[in-house]
Amino acid sequence: MPTETVFSIVYWGVTGTLTAPLRPTEITQRLVAAVKQLIERGRLADLLPGPELEANVRRRIEDELPFHLRSGYGGNTTCVEVQTPDALLILDCGSGLRELGVSLAERWRDKPSGPQRSAHVLVTHPHLDHICGTPYFSPYYDVNNRFTLWGSPSLIHQLGVLFDPQSRMSRHYFPPTYEQMKAIEEFRPIEPGSSFSIGSTHIRTHPLTHPGGCLAYRLENAGRAFVFATDHEQIESPDAGLVAFARGADVLYTEGQYTLAEYEGREPIGSSPAMPRQGWGHSTIEACAATAVAAGVRELHVGHRDPARSDEGIARLEEYLRERLRDELRRAGRPEDACQARIVHEGLAVSC
Ligand SMILES: [Zn+2]
Ligand SMILES: [Zn+2]
Repeated sequence: MPTETVFSIVYWGVTGTLTAPLRPTEITQRLVAAVKQLIERGRLADLLPGPELEANVRRRIEDELPFHLRSGYGGNTTCVEVQTPDALLILDCGSGLRELGVSLAERWRDKPSGPQRSAHVLVTHPHLDHICGTPYFSPYYDVNNRFTLWGSPSLIHQLGVLFDPQSRMSRHYFPPTYEQMKAIEEFRPIEPGSSFSIGSTHIRTHPLTHPGGCLAYRLENAGRAFVFATDHEQIESPDAGLVAFARGADVLYTEGQYTLAEYEGREPIGSSPAMPRQGWGHSTIEACAATAVAAGVRELHVGHRDPARSDEGIARLEEYLRERLRDELRRAGRPEDACQARIVHEGLAVSC
């Protein structure tokens, strides 16, 4: 099996439903908890002021503290960058798209206009948490850049309702229109279930169970496969449709916004009270684990975190996800390391 990287993936936004920035009191609380833990473990007492202090403090923080105390999962909504061997793809345009735009403007600054300043934007569905970054993506406003926008005919239509200068709805929800976003060159409607190619990457699509519809994308190239299946309510566990679509993928990104107890209304989600969440279009952690094992994927990435869940709550959820995955692997008679699972965070870069 080849070891070279085919897909380089960067998560720019992984929060679901609504942006969820840290509150000022949460930042203070995190600082207090972090310093307390370092002092209790005697990991600060030997540090002295001097030229090495900053590097030493950083090392202690990175080596000694759990992820949810030294960092966080990030509050931007869904946006993922995928570099293929010959194209740059952007999956979804949540608020994370704004920061990807800052990065791309920097990376493309000295590049000539043309293929080196172009990307394909694949959108799953028009719910606001997946498109709200669109007018705040600065590369759309630079005529030296070139973007092709892909999505279901309904998605292309709904974006037009918001951004087509001729639409009666344009300018009401966002100030700019496509008239200003001159770098969007082409719209490519794709029927759910159909497939197409971007450069050497073959892309299949699959309709998901979600209010208003949602499209999953399976990217295949040189024997590797990355499946992006956000916003999907897995009614059965495992989900036969998603199992077939994600079969054998190197990485399956999907969403497990709730535990089964939260989904059924038996437990609250952080600051959000217990209530039944069936029919809201989102999945359980239990279903994610069952589907990943049934599909035989190598790595399961779970995103679309509920905005009411704290970073500490996400860390606990990740432990729970891994327990459920081990149970599923055992039940299937497969080794414990046959599939890895994680809850993804903003800034995470992986390759396959
Ligand atoms: Zn969503
Ligand atoms: Zn949605």
